[in-house]
Amino acid sequence: MGDTSHAPSHDGQSQRLTSYEVLTSRSDFDWISVLKDAGAESYLTGRNGPCPFCGGTDRFQFSLKKVAWFCRVCPEGGGPPSDFLKRYMGYTCFQQLADHIRRFYGIQAGTQGEVQPRPAVPPMPKQPAMDKAKSLARMEAIWSSTREVKSGDAVDRYLRFRIPGLKHIPREIRIHPALEYWDAPLESGGRPILVGKFPAMIVRGFDADNNLVQVHKTYLTSDGAKAAVKHPKKTDVGVGSNSFAFRLGEPIGHTLGVAEGIETALAATLLDGHPVWPCHSSTILSNFVLPEHLRTTVKMVIIYADSDEMKMGRKAGSAAAAALASKLRQERVRSMIVRPAKVGADMADLVAHG
Ligand SMILES: [Zn+2]
Repeated sequence: MGDTSHAPSHDGQSQRLTSYEVLTSRSDFDWISVLKDAGAESYLTGRNGPCPFCGGTDRFQFSLKKVAWFCRVCPEGGGPPSDFLKRYMGYTCFQQLADHIRRFYGIQAGTQGEVQPRPAVPPMPKQPAMDKAKSLARMEAIWSSTREVKSGDAVDRYLRFRIPGLKHIPREIRIHPALEYWDAPLESGGRPILVGKFPAMIVRGFDADNNLVQVHKTYLTSDGAKAAVKHPKKTDVGVGSNSFAFRLGEPIGHTLGVAEGIETALAATLLDGHPVWPCHSSTILSNFVLPEHLRTTVKMVIIYADSDEMKMGRKAGSAAAAALASKLRQERVRSMIVRPAKVGADMADLVAHG
């Protein structure tokens, strides 16, 4: 029982179960990070809000104290965070859940040291049409208040500082002149607090079927620094999709790059010349699906992996890249993983510091 995860297993099933249990029982195991990475951040406010599974407006709460979800309408009434993740990702069995956790912590499954391919992109969690329409309208309203990035504005300054030598800012990156930033209420049942309005970098996320499913917001100061708020980078409530990309440019050749962060993607484009689509987080990246309209033109997907430092045995960047490569291989799409050599570096750091 002393072993945790790395030894080859002669009994795959029990080895996997042990890994999951050992991981999740560690005192430094952090469910909130796992759920945030899965794209559920907007449900983790600790206050009442819409339920990701049955909708509504204030029937749901993810208690940060109890680390559990509660819903007044869902027949189960709630459950532990593992149950939340399983439902949120649309997993149908414990195996998929355990694989997800292991992938998050960069522990490879299987007996050959091969990352287990993720099953086909899990179905979107159910969200009633009304709420979906509301979320969509909200995202469209944010987008319609944006304008083109101009030389010297907050977004232009922010990106040029992060990525020295950046020549071209894709048109899909736009600036919102004064976007409201809300903090969660101080106590349960309280009202959200309007912290202020900030210039913000806005990018839209599309799923493989070309539907708008997310909006990414980076709150800035007018001189291009990150705004002094708790979470300067946020996604919107979205429509529950866990496979999307911020499409920074349509590929003109046969190569498309994918990455996690927006800055990493821009830096990779600067270095390599082809468009690179950021996918927000390691989990969303590992779920990337090449849109149908690109299947005939794109012959190679280059995966720019974040080479994160080990944290609690986790190398999420590398694990996500390997999982995506394996999934693309099954779909007969060629891929290549590019990693910055320095541990802890991403492409933006490489461009900035050589
Ligand atoms: Zn519910």
